[in-house]
Amino acid sequence: MSSIIQLLPDHVANQIAAGEVVQRPASVVKELVENAVDAGATEIKLIVKDAGKTLIQVIDNGKGMSETDARLCFERHATSKIRQAEDLFSLHTKGFRGEALASIAAIAHVELKTKQDQEELGTHLIIEGGKFISQDVAVLPKGTSFSVKNLFFNIPARRNFLKSDTVEFRHIVDDFERVALAHPNIHFVLTHNGSEMCNLPISNARQRIVNVFGGKTNEKLVPVSESTEIVEIQGFVGKPEFAKKNRGEQFFFVNNRFIKSPYLHHAIMAAYDGLLKDGSQPSYFLFLDVPPHTIDINIHPTKTEIKFDDDQSMYAIIRSSVKHSLGQFNVAPVLDFER
Ligand code: ADP
Ligand code: MG
Repeated sequence: MSSIIQLLPDHVANQIAAGEVVQRPASVVKELVENAVDAGATEIKLIVKDAGKTLIQVIDNGKGMSETDARLCFERHATSKIRQAEDLFSLHTKGFRGEALASIAAIAHVELKTKQDQEELGTHLIIEGGKFISQDVAVLPKGTSFSVKNLFFNIPARRNFLKSDTVEFRHIVDDFERVALAHPNIHFVLTHNGSEMCNLPISNARQRIVNVFGGKTNEKLVPVSESTEIVEIQGFVGKPEFAKKNRGEQFFFVNNRFIKSPYLHHAIMAAYDGLLKDGSQPSYFLFLDVPPHTIDINIHPTKTEIKFDDDQSMYAIIRSSVKHSLGQFNVAPVLDFER
């Protein structure tokens, strides 16, 4: 009896998986910048041309890769960050799925330059549409540089679907800022079409927020600090009188990872109950630290959703600690400051 089922070749499987990981240029930025953070970099430079449609380059001064790893990193499910399933419950890195680079290389032209500190020479490698083009030994500084060009060159439908440069660049800035806010101990620089858009020196959490959102932000922030058995909360919430119509400055980080959570957003809004004008949105920057085994981050390939073991307690703790902080700063209810 004949069989009609076949295993897809790797480059086809990678191209299919890439659809989930890489939605737009900003997804590439997120994956490359997160890898640079995981590599222990203290300086990360992002160079973008034409909102990432022409070039996305991330240069870091992290630990670099050996000659062998420079090639292996583009294989699917190739990762240095976990070894066994149990490691998922003790994650301290941004990455663990080992599929970002394989996906990106499947749908773009990628150039990698990398050198480990202790090595004399580094590796210069080119891979296009999942095919290795060249690999040479090269004189390089310590760290890693990934250049990604011609994104979606072999998926015309995706390329045509990209929005204007303004919109795509906005997405890049959003993803860049999310990582930068969570890592004030790293110096970040962003250039677009040759101009420096953002230069964030090493600082603390509060100063980083001010550097990202501007000097006036400082006076708007009320500190939040809470320590319980299941979570440690640090961060800032905006004074209600500075609340805005849009939701631009609302950030949750769990173990230094930006997370979208309508449920926890609701907890914050509940803490502001009675303090906000109708429909206005407070800013918040909350950094939650939880034991890695009490969360599941492997819900979606982009890892912006999370499942807490005990989300009801999380809700209650966030609501009460934010409420407490707002109260301590003698925040007046709406009626008072409208007079
Ligand atoms: P993951 O981050 O989930 O492990 P990736 O495909 O993003 O998967 O990266 C694969 C591997 O390549 C990483 O586990 C890491 O060992 C290596 N790597 C990627 N980027 C860098 C970098 N900037 N510096 C050093 N090593 C890197
Ligand atoms: Mg990664």
